[in-house]
Amino acid sequence: MAFEGLTSRLQNVFGKLKGKGKVTEEDVNEAMREVRLALLEADVNFKVVKQFISTVKEKAVGQEVMKSFTPAMVIIDIVNKELTELMGGTQSKLEKSNRPPTVIMMVGLQGAGKTTTTGKLAKLLQKQNHKPLLVAGDIYRPAAIKQLQTLGEQLKVPVFSLGDQVSPVEIARQGIELAKKDHHDYVLIDTAGRLHIDENLMDELKQIRETVKPDEILLVVDSMTGQDAVNVAESFHAQMELTGVVLTKLDGDTRGGAAISVKAVTGCPIKFAAMGEKLDALEPFHPERMASRILG
Ligand code: GDP
Repeated sequence: MAFEGLTSRLQNVFGKLKGKGKVTEEDVNEAMREVRLALLEADVNFKVVKQFISTVKEKAVGQEVMKSFTPAMVIIDIVNKELTELMGGTQSKLEKSNRPPTVIMMVGLQGAGKTTTTGKLAKLLQKQNHKPLLVAGDIYRPAAIKQLQTLGEQLKVPVFSLGDQVSPVEIARQGIELAKKDHHDYVLIDTAGRLHIDENLMDELKQIRETVKPDEILLVVDSMTGQDAVNVAESFHAQMELTGVVLTKLDGDTRGGAAISVKAVTGCPIKFAAMGEKLDALEPFHPERMASRILG
């Protein structure tokens, strides 16, 4: 992760505040003006910024803070807590069905990193002693099936495919049948991604959802696309009732706007963050740790 711009700007603001013995209401207002600009420059959704600043101000100008011996530290602590809340508060864990297999549908636009993330998630589950099955449901993008099969070979995780001439709904259905038969406790279904959200894509995803009744519908979005990623998440969530978002390419994201706003805008928690192309570059998303990293 590389939100250096935001981190150094915030450190600058709080550094100035720390230099003051007493902190006045005007000092807090000035600091919050700068925090606001820093967040906007990091491509955080403007409504989210507005709400955030007003919440922090409300808490920071209270008598308790002003009277404290270390007002700057108290304010940093408030910002830290509010940032954590923005990103979901506590870690949002993967659902686990009490009637295995747990079915996870992976959705997203082409290029977001959906297929790679499906492989990474299989690896993470494998490390936790689970037995995942991958299902190749992206029959439209040339080479998507092969890509998943290659990932499966690397991980030694079986990949269920019926080629590209059978409907993804049928592939998903049969994949789950196989998982039950072979005692897989997780099924990860890779689905089609298009360049844009369109009705055909959504219809097909909805049909798969109705057929397999997934425990999780995870949307994979490219964090480097900032507010576009948030808009994509909003549209998908409205149609698909997502259970979680996976942010990819955080390693190349220099701003952080998607990470900070997607939960606040959509209400949908970030469950994982991907920080590289390698198969082990996927981590559960911890809002608290992310807030501390942002504050530096
Ligand atoms: P899909 O079309 O959504 O299935 O996308 P792919 O899984 O094929 O990924 C598209 C490209 O993004 C590939 O070159 C991946 O290696 C790359 N990629 C995926 N996740 C990450 C990540 O977290 N960091 C970086 N740097 N690259 C990633």
